[in-house]
Amino acid sequence: MLRFAGALLTVFLTALPPKAMAQEGRALAEPDERYKADILVVVAHPDDEAAVTPYLARALDEHRRIAVVFATRGSSGSNEAGAEQAAALGDVREIEARHALATLGINNVWFLSGKDTATQDVLVSLANWDHGETLAQMVRLVRLTRPEVILTFLPGTFIGEDHGDHQASGVLSTEAFDLAGNPAVFPEQVAGPMKRLEPFLENLRPWQVKKIYYFPDADRQDIFRGKGPSYSVKEVSRLSNKPYWRMALDAFRAHQTQAKSYLDKIAQMDEAQIEKMATSQDGWGADQHFVLGKSLVGGSVSGDVFEGITPGAIPYARPEVTPEPARPDLAMELGGPWSFYAEFRRAHGLANLPNPEPPEIALEAPGTLVIPLWIRNQTAKAQEVTLSASLPAGWRAGIGTGKFTVAAKQTSAARVEVSLPALPEETGKKAEAQHVTVRAEANGQVIGEAKLGVELRKRALPE
Ligand SMILES: [Zn+2]
Repeated sequence: MLRFAGALLTVFLTALPPKAMAQEGRALAEPDERYKADILVVVAHPDDEAAVTPYLARALDEHRRIAVVFATRGSSGSNEAGAEQAAALGDVREIEARHALATLGINNVWFLSGKDTATQDVLVSLANWDHGETLAQMVRLVRLTRPEVILTFLPGTFIGEDHGDHQASGVLSTEAFDLAGNPAVFPEQVAGPMKRLEPFLENLRPWQVKKIYYFPDADRQDIFRGKGPSYSVKEVSRLSNKPYWRMALDAFRAHQTQAKSYLDKIAQMDEAQIEKMATSQDGWGADQHFVLGKSLVGGSVSGDVFEGITPGAIPYARPEVTPEPARPDLAMELGGPWSFYAEFRRAHGLANLPNPEPPEIALEAPGTLVIPLWIRNQTAKAQEVTLSASLPAGWRAGIGTGKFTVAAKQTSAARVEVSLPALPEETGKKAEAQHVTVRAEANGQVIGEAKLGVELRKRALPE
């Protein structure tokens, strides 16, 4: 009986007409419209979205589809609402962020696998996030959501813009802006299935985002003026009948772990008291400012976020790399995140990104300022270099100053450490940044000066 069945099968297979072996080309499946976004917001921690929710409230009035990416679950933060810490706190904060955004009607919310990192140094954040892995995740979400515009934190080191994770979310977004449209990048994401229920290849399409804007949380405002659009947050939403800032505040109420005492106070206020919160320009009533990173569709620098954007895909655009500046054969410059950002702006064509001169940082005092340096010697012989520091009164140079030798055709990493004094008694006036200069000399000539504006604070994240 078995043998008979086998023979029958053979007859059946050989009897199949030859045209069953051929196949017709099929159009690529359309991406899932439920995940299409006009705006993709990228931030670091649950509650960071509050930096942009007043604008999102306006964008919802304009019927924009919005998706949000959090790079971490915020598991290193404090918990004002309960006992949960570490990974458990991350689980709680993920839900808080989802609730906050659901209050606005935003439900397409994703979390990357980055880890909450207590640092001001973007390079430390990127390392702790497993940069390559989180970038692949970010590119995947750009290809899935196909945003017209990305809104993210400003990638740069400023006083106030002091969380390395915030900066890293801006770095990752900028990299994804330049990579997601390139089919040669993470090609497994854009490869089609080779078999039914393909378990590896993702069948996404490359996607070129049209514009990227940054929101700065730097203390200074001067260098951001006129670098992008500004929006009042006081207009009343057609959807909710509430001012935009008030929609943002109501969404923020979900963040109990981060602000329970503050939120409890608001819960006790009457309407008139809450209204007052919008009268100060520093608080909920402050205009929302953006900095234009780049646009591939024209539009003016301070025009509307959607100026120049029309529906439909645009071709992949290779980033315009700014040429490398000419460097003398023997030179010294700032290293660490400062030299990274100079390379980053060049590599991504962000020629107009505001950038403080001199570079600046706020640090906890008493404490230590570490100034990373590169010393390049492209000459044919070893060079003796002398490092010296000009410091404010009461600041002390520790290791790193003095003479040392840089071999021929070598680049040396060096660092100068400065002991920061305790802060003077409270004077009531705002602390000003003070200036530190490290000078490098060789053969009786100055070969480089690294200047930093340093503000001392009672509390600051580690450098
Ligand atoms: Zn944050």
